[in-house]
Amino acid sequence: MALIEEFIETGRRAAAMIRASGIRISDEEERQIVVNDFELGNLAKEGAQLLEWVGTKRVNVRLIVLQPFQTLPEHYHKAAADDPGKEETLRMVSGTLYLYMQGEENMLYGFVPEGQEQYYTVRHEVVLKSEDQLTLEPGTLHWFQAGSEGAVMYSFTSQARDRLNIFTNPRTTKGCLNDLGA
Ligand code: ZN
Repeated sequence: MALIEEFIETGRRAAAMIRASGIRISDEEERQIVVNDFELGNLAKEGAQLLEWVGTKRVNVRLIVLQPFQTLPEHYHKAAADDPGKEETLRMVSGTLYLYMQGEENMLYGFVPEGQEQYYTVRHEVVLKSEDQLTLEPGTLHWFQAGSEGAVMYSFTSQARDRLNIFTNPRTTKGCLNDLGA
């Protein structure tokens, strides 16, 4: 499949997964879904689909959709002079999420994308299902992966300045969404 078609199709699938999870979005919002491969060129394995609902200087609310077994690469939210870094709460709507952060290595269900071991350094696994939520403090490394049904989740955060999302893989030079950060 040509690259552009893969992105369009993945965005369509993300919209269908959002609607199947019970969240209503408009056709206009469907068109605003950002499909991001984090410049890694392997969208089905490393990527995420994002729909931003609120993006002010204080608050950010997004939906994050992962296709089955798709992985959002390891990163942290860096501090700036006037900001300790983005605090992020993930709340699951549908599917299963394997979230990784610092701590005891107990990886059981998820897997590191093939050949990318050096870019996934934290291996403490937390399993999140529908109605579970977890808050990530600023500055903590994390990555996450959907199970076999994919995953739809809310991301509630303080101001999102995506240029301050620092990815372990240096090939990712831009943040999570469009280059909206200030
Ligand atoms: Zn994050």
